[in-house]
Amino acid sequence: MSSAKPAATPDSAARLSEKLAAIRDRIPSTVRLIAVTKTFPASIIRLAYAEGIRDFAENKVQEALEKQETLGDLTDVTWHFIGHIQSNKSRKVLEHFDWIHSIDSLKLANRLDRQAAELNRRPNCYLQVKLMPDPNKDGFERDQLMASLAQLDQLSHIQIRGLMVILPYGLSKQQAKSGFDQARQLATEIANTGILNMQMDQLSMGMSGDFESAIAAGATMIRIGSGLFGQR
Ligand SMILES: *Cc1c(COP(=O)(O)O)cnc(C)c1O
Repeated sequence: MSSAKPAATPDSAARLSEKLAAIRDRIPSTVRLIAVTKTFPASIIRLAYAEGIRDFAENKVQEALEKQETLGDLTDVTWHFIGHIQSNKSRKVLEHFDWIHSIDSLKLANRLDRQAAELNRRPNCYLQVKLMPDPNKDGFERDQLMASLAQLDQLSHIQIRGLMVILPYGLSKQQAKSGFDQARQLATEIANTGILNMQMDQLSMGMSGDFESAIAAGATMIRIGSGLFGQR
């Protein structure tokens, strides 16, 4: 059912420029804007790059690698992986991404750490947490995460930097704010357990529909797709 996305045109360049200016007006300079380009062609990434964006996120390995290949001349891009990682894809994710936002189990964390050692990679990582029941999302539940902390803190090749949150669809502004506040509080709680290797200095939360609440709650990275590039 998927239809091919239109390639970038001068018209799409002008629209992107406007949308980006509007979003940049609403985010403090300390918050890092990650452009989510899943399902969009490499030509859209080039347009965003021309607008000064250097952080791009993808959620499917094969699709991302094809785009990275096409964009090999853009050497100062930081690539973020935000999708579920199947175990047979973890090595490729380590090889081709600088930030991994979607570590959703202890098993995956262990696997990535072992492979990062083999590949001599030191990716920055987030632990994906699920703070509210959501059948569509992966992630550590709170209790599960607290019970895994000691083991996660042993990992020394992947650099755990904080939590990544995706809230369920259809929350009210109030509920979203509460969800993001819970995430920040959880990060603080974890930081206060005396972790040694892990850090909790980053929070990846907020998408096109809710990034302002996320920033108000302390997000350091927001992940924006449709708000820049249109509906997928
Ligand atoms: C698709 C996606 C986004 C971007 O969502 P938009 O609503 O298009 O801004 C952010 N984070 C993750 C994990 C995603 O999969």
